[in-house]
Amino acid sequence: MDKPVIFNTSLDPNHMKFDNIDVVFVYDDLQWDETTIKNLCYSEDINSMQSVVDWFGEESKRYNKSFSPKLKCFENPIKLPKDITKSKGKICLKGGCETQPLDSEKVILYIRNNVEGVTNDNILQIIYLVSESEQFYNNAIQSYFTSFIFVKKNSGSPFGLYGYSGETVAHEITHIFGANDKYIEGSYAPCCKADPITGKEYLGEDIMCHRKIDSDGICTGIELDELKISEETAREIGWIPIV
Ligand SMILES: [Zn+2]
Repeated sequence: MDKPVIFNTSLDPNHMKFDNIDVVFVYDDLQWDETTIKNLCYSEDINSMQSVVDWFGEESKRYNKSFSPKLKCFENPIKLPKDITKSKGKICLKGGCETQPLDSEKVILYIRNNVEGVTNDNILQIIYLVSESEQFYNNAIQSYFTSFIFVKKNSGSPFGLYGYSGETVAHEITHIFGANDKYIEGSYAPCCKADPITGKEYLGEDIMCHRKIDSDGICTGIELDELKISEETAREIGWIPIV
């Protein structure tokens, strides 16, 4: 049985006291390679984990906050036991519940209980290398301070990984802090939801929408260096007081 996990609930609501973002690489049958992990963590590329951490630091400064966790990449990938990779999960969001091909909670508990150096008062970023045949969805579990990203090998993508990008990681981590999705599923405008207060479409450059209309009229992604934490999102995560 898993050991109980006690989270540090005394962290302040503005989440400035997270010391680290722990990045753990997990896999089932496909192995990670060392160079990919090093580049993904520490390279100058806008999609690296270091760039994501720096981006949060810069964004927090714009709101007179100082969010500056250290990046801690666990460079030895973790092979998940079969009983965990085969466990079916359920994810419940505002729209209802759906079955997932993996029980994220089991993975989180496994990582938090078994990976030496991962502590319960840090943000945990799990990057799971999956095989082509499976369908997974990224998510963030606020109560475990954990973000999940699923990636597949693909030579045309950043670091040779389809599904991984700096903006995806930043988006999921912002969920941990309490931000809501502001994008609309689908290809055509509007790409972002409407603000219920003003009725206006949310900013495409906001990390929680991260979409703009391209020259063909299709909603496409925006890279991290063009993205920001808008005032609406800053309010949701406690960087601006709610008036
Ligand atoms: Zn989201």
